Amino acid sequence: MRFAVKAVIFMLLGATLAFAKPTIYILATGGTIAGSGSGALDTSYTSGTVTVDKLIAAVPDINKIATIKGEQISNIGSQEMNNEVWFKLANRVNELLTSGKADGVVITHGTDTMEETAYFLNLVVKSDKPIVMVGAMRNSGSLSADGPLNIFNAVNVAMNKEAVGKGVMVVMNDEIHAAREVTKTNTTAVDTFKSPNSGKIGTVFYGNVKFYMNPTRKHTVNSAFDITKIKELPRVDIIYSHSNDNPDFVNLAVKNGAKGIINAGMGNGNPFPSALEALGEAVKAGVVVVRDSRVGSGETTLNGEVDDGKYGFLASDNLNAQKARVLLMLALTQTTDKAKIQELFLTH
Ligand code: GLU
Repeated sequence: MRFAVKAVIFMLLGATLAFAKPTIYILATGGTIAGSGSGALDTSYTSGTVTVDKLIAAVPDINKIATIKGEQISNIGSQEMNNEVWFKLANRVNELLTSGKADGVVITHGTDTMEETAYFLNLVVKSDKPIVMVGAMRNSGSLSADGPLNIFNAVNVAMNKEAVGKGVMVVMNDEIHAAREVTKTNTTAVDTFKSPNSGKIGTVFYGNVKFYMNPTRKHTVNSAFDITKIKELPRVDIIYSHSNDNPDFVNLAVKNGAKGIINAGMGNGNPFPSALEALGEAVKAGVVVVRDSRVGSGETTLNGEVDDGKYGFLASDNLNAQKARVLLMLALTQTTDKAKIQELFLTH
């Protein structure tokens, strides 16, 4: 008899656990997804005016599939994104996931700098649970606003078992992209997010999640970085190259205390001759210089047309300049050893 009672209790417990809804936290930071204009066809609007509660209320279906909890981290256009919000966000995501309070996290964010925040979190959060970033290209009051379906899809990815271990993902326009690879490619189109070097890792169609690929570079639990050990980020500047360039921005960056420079060079990371010499002088002054490219896809190769050995430059592999900046800032919190930093670029 006692055995029968125990068996029933065990089965009921099992059934409850099997049907228990996952807990997904939605952390809101602002952006167009939380933006509003004066009319459905109004092309001017203000980012970051709608609160997290209203964002959640616009997608009632997510409450049927998950226990949803919302938190407002900031409410800004993501062109205002800064280290303070990054640290607040990273620490909160880390705490929610490592404490077991959340099974997954969705972060609403402006699209302008979503890729930078995604890569930063990808490198510093110590959990393999799903972390999904989402935004919108049309504000909440506009005709065919894309935010609500993007949020529904993001929550479905955040609670999907196959999303575990894939690092930070960006879900937009029915596609799932890996943080390291994704970039905004169009100023206004809803299909703006692409992963030019590797393609998307999955799709999500009205909540139906399918993965086709895994990110291979180190992230989250395997990354060399840990948000609980980082207190501040050093200054790293991005300097864009062009025809008939000059050395002035390089010299100014060094004068103003940059500890690192990412050069978004022409083609395979080629600077204009006078800028090249200034970058070489920057290295002599102790600045870590990483050659990158303004092209938008492809690898910047070591010792291509530039003698990196002679100048002491590093190369960014195939990270775009804004992501190379994130990695170099983090690398410089640990070391100024160029060989070690180059290795981080080849593995993260
Ligand atoms: N500048 C805004 C932002 O990044 C608008 C872009 C968007 O969210 O789509 O927050």
